[in-house]
Amino acid sequence: MSKKLYIETVGCQMNVLDSELVVGSLRRQGYQLTHEATEADVILFNTCSVRQHAEDKIYSALGRLRAYKRRHPNKVVGVLGCMAQKDQDLILRRAPHVDIVCGTGQLARLPELIAEVQETHTPQLALSLDRKEGSRLEVEHSFESYDPLRDPSMRPSPFQAYVRIMIGCDKFCTYCIVPSVRGPEQSRPPEHIAAEVRQLADEGCKEVILLGQTVNSYEFKYADGRRERLSDLLLRIHDTPGVERIKFITNFPRDMSDDLLDAVRALPKVCEYLHVPAQSGCNDVLKRMKRLYTVEFYRDMLQRCRERVPDAAISSDFIVGFCGETEASFQRTCDLVREADFKNSFIFKYSPRPGTKADELFADDVPEEIKKRRNNDLLAIQNRVSLADHRRRIGQTVEVLVEGPSKTSLKHETGPGPKQLTGRTMTDHIVVFEGNERLIGQTVQVRIEEATAFTLFGTVATGERIGVEAERLSEPATSIPETLLQEALKNRLELPLLGG
Ligand code: SAM
Ligand code: SF4
Repeated sequence: MSKKLYIETVGCQMNVLDSELVVGSLRRQGYQLTHEATEADVILFNTCSVRQHAEDKIYSALGRLRAYKRRHPNKVVGVLGCMAQKDQDLILRRAPHVDIVCGTGQLARLPELIAEVQETHTPQLALSLDRKEGSRLEVEHSFESYDPLRDPSMRPSPFQAYVRIMIGCDKFCTYCIVPSVRGPEQSRPPEHIAAEVRQLADEGCKEVILLGQTVNSYEFKYADGRRERLSDLLLRIHDTPGVERIKFITNFPRDMSDDLLDAVRALPKVCEYLHVPAQSGCNDVLKRMKRLYTVEFYRDMLQRCRERVPDAAISSDFIVGFCGETEASFQRTCDLVREADFKNSFIFKYSPRPGTKADELFADDVPEEIKKRRNNDLLAIQNRVSLADHRRRIGQTVEVLVEGPSKTSLKHETGPGPKQLTGRTMTDHIVVFEGNERLIGQTVQVRIEEATAFTLFGTVATGERIGVEAERLSEPATSIPETLLQEALKNRLELPLLGG
């Protein structure tokens, strides 16, 4: 009988990709994926530690498993990823029924760790070095885990895939735990990335999303001194047959170079979507955050983005209630959001992270109630800006890559015939429209008719293309196997931004 695996993923796209790699390697060991934890022989939690709330969710899920594990001692329970690297053996003290604690840089060892638990019934810890525990090279090696095994059924959809182009982060923003739990910044060799993109395209993938904590800092240095930057990498992978769209997230404002913006404008497959978190609109706060730029620099950078890529949609992240954030500093952030015309912003309440500089140096002095109010206020401002941006698009015809049924049609099972579908434009705008399910994975032209702050609504506009699609779709096979499509729709993941 085949062994079964259950995996729950919290956090960012990096974690979604890590889970895909874990499932790929365990399938090779004969494991099958199940959506029921109680059916599984191995139960894994891939975790996030960017905010306290994400950790609390995992500890309470582990608490709920305690009695079950007592009744089924042969089941293997594992905690993977950022929280594993951060909390280490504390996890075993808080949840002694956990068998495996495996950090972000050690995931390739998971099959071996599971086998060890099954044989010896002793807990296994696999962790990378702390950044102060060795030389930079030693720490880098302890985080390397480039595993090219992929599992298409774990993707957001079979025609979209994440590709990690770098790991780790060296920016050390004072509030952020990522540099500790994901280790030093390392860029992957361009040839490996290009080969992975080709492999994904051969499997039917049409959109690749290049991932890095500060993806625009990508730079691979060859032994002979040559350097390849993100703009060069985009050019290298641009003509991969089968790939229709290339996105990259998340950008660091200081590294938004002109050569990258020019590449975005010049290369038609590269999405005109730039996620460049500002975090705050107040220089005092930015300084305490150690973001390495001022709000004036950020505004100039935005202007440069708009001049060089006039159609770009730009989005941001903000932290409200950071240490020492006064009402006046918060108002400066509100001003930035009113002016900057972001497509959308991800807004977070500051969550102190033990082990970060901010936690060590500054008091978490903004009361929770005020953090909540600032969060709501900023969200309301951003929603008005988003709505205005969306309304400007009414009457336009946009190209949409169809991702699947909309949330509404997933909730209300409808019969055969057209369904409400959802997809995204080249500028990452979400579009909902009616269409046949067989359009999923295709690119269609949609005329926008209505808009809310979050979604554009429209109807398929391409009469002649629909004719072509209808002819093509009536053929028995698309490039994506039907089973894969069904599996992916079942798994359809919400896609928070990094750490969201
Ligand atoms: N590397 C990306 C960057 O620099 O923008 C984002 C990585 S971070 C994991 C995702 C977002 O989480 C950040 O942009 C920030 O807004 C938020 N974040 C990080 N640490 C946080 C904390 N301690 N409390 C609240 N939000 C936090
Ligand atoms: Fe690095 Fe982003 Fe965290 Fe800053 S916020 S330390 S750039 S991951």
